Amino acid sequence: LPQDFTATPQCLAGKVILVTGAGDGIGRAAALSYAQHGATVILLGRTIDKLEAVYDEIEAAKLPQAAIYPMHLRGAAMKDYEDLANTIEKEFGHLDGLLHNAGVLGERRTLAQTSVDSWDEVLQVNLSAPFMMTQALLPLLAAAKNASVIFTSSSVGRKGRAFWGAYAISKFGTEGMMQVLADEEFALNQTRVNSINPGATQTVMRRTAYPGENPQDNPLPEAIMPLYLYLMSDDSNAVNGQQFDAQAK
Ligand code: NDP
Repeated sequence: LPQDFTATPQCLAGKVILVTGAGDGIGRAAALSYAQHGATVILLGRTIDKLEAVYDEIEAAKLPQAAIYPMHLRGAAMKDYEDLANTIEKEFGHLDGLLHNAGVLGERRTLAQTSVDSWDEVLQVNLSAPFMMTQALLPLLAAAKNASVIFTSSSVGRKGRAFWGAYAISKFGTEGMMQVLADEEFALNQTRVNSINPGATQTVMRRTAYPGENPQDNPLPEAIMPLYLYLMSDDSNAVNGQQFDAQAK
């Protein structure tokens, strides 16, 4: 994050931004933060009452009206992503930002003990779903001026570690997809593609991965939002193909 960056109050005004996994954790914070900075946010996720709670918070704060798009990324197929693209085109006409945030942890076991079922789920939700969604949404992103795609990685997507199994491998794949897309899309239509490693953050996923840890040792999702805002705002128009860390190491 450039040291001189501060998000201006309306830095996302007029933008339409889709956030996956918007009902909880980091995705919820990002959706609220984007709305607070003027964006119209599309809240995508699998648990409708969580999405409704975020929608209601945005309404109560009198921010640009959000939209809810329920979707279960485990079973979604290309047709579902095409429906998503058609709906966004019909309702909004353009898409300026896509935050791939939804993710699952899978089994915290050695690869030797990892079940194929768990492998399939993690790879589907964390890697194949973002691939299909991005492919379906690329024409809309290309039509927008300076669109931004953000992938969510992890420290174990940059250096593998024991017991991180399919999750780590899915995050390595995410980084690879980010780099390939960045190299393809930016030159063609100015769509920039980058990845964020949020770092240890107080969420359900972190508590599940580290049950022995005091959750309060980690920052709340709200604290890591400056980087999420930067990469969606026009301040980062020239930034492409980069791996970012939301927290200092
Ligand atoms: P949470 O578990 O708190 O939130 C994950 C979100 O993804 C939830 O909204 C969840 O929906 C949604 N989701 C999961 N599976 C599906 C699915 N099949 N279909 C649709 N939505 C789904 O996790 P975090 O907020 O912590 O994580 C967000 C991202 O950040 C993830 O990609 C994670 O890998 C990454 N990350 C997090 C770190 C941390 O310390 N928290 C560290 C490094 C990376 P629901 O609530 O309905 O289950």
